[in-house]
Amino acid sequence: MSLDNLWAGWRHEYIQEATERERTAGLDNDATSCVFCRIAGSGPPSIDNLVVWRGEWSFVLLNAYPYASGHVLVLPLRHVGGLGALTALESAEVWAASQNAVAAIEGAYDPDGLNLGANLGRAAGAGIPSHVHLHVLPRWSGDTNFMTSIAGTRVMPETLQVAWQKLTEAWPSG
Ligand SMILES: [Zn+2]
Repeated sequence: MSLDNLWAGWRHEYIQEATERERTAGLDNDATSCVFCRIAGSGPPSIDNLVVWRGEWSFVLLNAYPYASGHVLVLPLRHVGGLGALTALESAEVWAASQNAVAAIEGAYDPDGLNLGANLGRAAGAGIPSHVHLHVLPRWSGDTNFMTSIAGTRVMPETLQVAWQKLTEAWPSG
């Protein structure tokens, strides 16, 4: 596959626009224009906002542009761009939520493995670098490799609503 394909998917237009905006105006630190903050303010978890779990400091959201079914984002409720900006309480809850996200994905999808990670900064592949978030997603032996996955070429066999239902049911209680 050529490098062209890497950026030829659904993200291209948005990335280009956002990158140009950042070059001229700097990183967008305005929480009012942040899609994650808008969702964080949309109330308790529901099939409408696709929030799977919400805690005191953080929440877990289905990625609207998944690399695989069951792909979630774990992120602080507060609009901060870097891991270093998280308080100890936020860090601890983000990590606990990541552990539960792994358990929920394992319970709902029985994958062969999982990817857990963060793209810190636009250059590292973050679509929304101003609000730090961790990706957690299931992987199967023989599925597309990660680079193919992030090009947005994978066919999604289920809707986000079905994924939300599965993960909510599989979310560890207590
Ligand atoms: Zn935000």
